[in-house]
Amino acid sequence: MSVLVILEQRGELKACGLEAASAAKRVAEAAGMPLNALYMGKSLDDGLYALAGLGIDTVYACEHPELRYYSNDRYVPLLCELATEIGAKAIIGSASALGKELCASAAARIHAELAQDAISVRWDGTLRAEKPIFAGKVISDVVFTSLPGVVTLRPNVGVIERAGDALPQVAKRDVPPASVRAVIEEVVENVSGTVELTEAKIVVTGGRGIGGPENWPVLQDLCDALGAALGASRAAVDAGWIEASHQVGQTGKVVCPDLYIACGVSGAIQHLAGMRTSKIVVAINNDPEAPIFKLCDYGIVGDLLEVVPMFAEEIRKGR
Ligand SMILES: Cc1cc2nc3c(=O)[nH]c(=O)nc-3n(C[C@H](O)[C@H](O)[C@H](O)COP(=O)(O)OP(=O)(O)OC[C@H]3O[C@@H](n4cnc5c(N)ncnc54)[C@H](O)[C@@H]3O)c2cc1C
Repeated sequence: MSVLVILEQRGELKACGLEAASAAKRVAEAAGMPLNALYMGKSLDDGLYALAGLGIDTVYACEHPELRYYSNDRYVPLLCELATEIGAKAIIGSASALGKELCASAAARIHAELAQDAISVRWDGTLRAEKPIFAGKVISDVVFTSLPGVVTLRPNVGVIERAGDALPQVAKRDVPPASVRAVIEEVVENVSGTVELTEAKIVVTGGRGIGGPENWPVLQDLCDALGAALGASRAAVDAGWIEASHQVGQTGKVVCPDLYIACGVSGAIQHLAGMRTSKIVVAINNDPEAPIFKLCDYGIVGDLLEVVPMFAEEIRKGR
């Protein structure tokens, strides 16, 4: 019996997998089980040191050039076989696009209960997870009635906790040939040099209040000053002002940054569903009655085209 955490990689190990490992460590301790990890990728070699002090007993490494990019046909059988072999009672991954698909497929295959996009996971005699529902208005306490249970954790809700610098044991696994229906040859980032929205520590979002696509540079300048990712409301996306990959909300991406700056966003429930777990929310809106002011920690009533450049300038001065 053990707890199994999935380490995500895109060449390098992703922070979201290391956060999941820290949460999984607490579950393993409470359950009195060892913590094991699964790596699927080209080679763990350089990544091993990123696992120092996370409390992982054994990392099972499935290394193969064809595992460099995610493939459902490849990854799901490897995860299911390992989970069954080591008697995993809890399988914990990240609620990234990759993690959600992988865990859903694996849970279906091994007939396990699944909680996606949880904001916490714990062991309390059985596996439990907290999960926002109804566009984030309610936090449900999911109790697993059978094990193994599979949980994906929202990136950025947890922290990477290290104690010491002990490295896990590495157990290399065979990667048998598999018939795959689609092979990813190359991944081309659509915007080079920018921070991935769902993993960003700071997000600056523009809504319909930016007035038009010609004003994105004003927000992008603040993003550059802060090292932030650029988000958008659906109104801005639907107007054709920006690609849908920037959309935050119920039908967009769910983000959980340390700092979320909403510029010209009214605060519709569907938008809040994608950002309400952000740690600090700043709203800039020229309407003092805008609903976003009910949720934010800091509110600025004013024209964003005046406030945002001042904000960026002050940040640069401070640095
Ligand atoms: C099924 C469904 C799913 C949806 N999914 C999403 C989703 O994923 N994400 C999402 O965002 N929405 C989603 N929506 C749409 C949502 O209901 C809102 O329509 C949308 O969020 C509004 O976007 P907005 O805040 O940018 O625009 P508005 O509601 O029009 O607000 C614009 C704000 O900008 C302010 N403003 C105007 N000019 C300035 C200025 N110069 N300076 C400062 N402030 C200014 C205004 O006071 C206003 O508050 C969904 C809706 C449905 C029905």
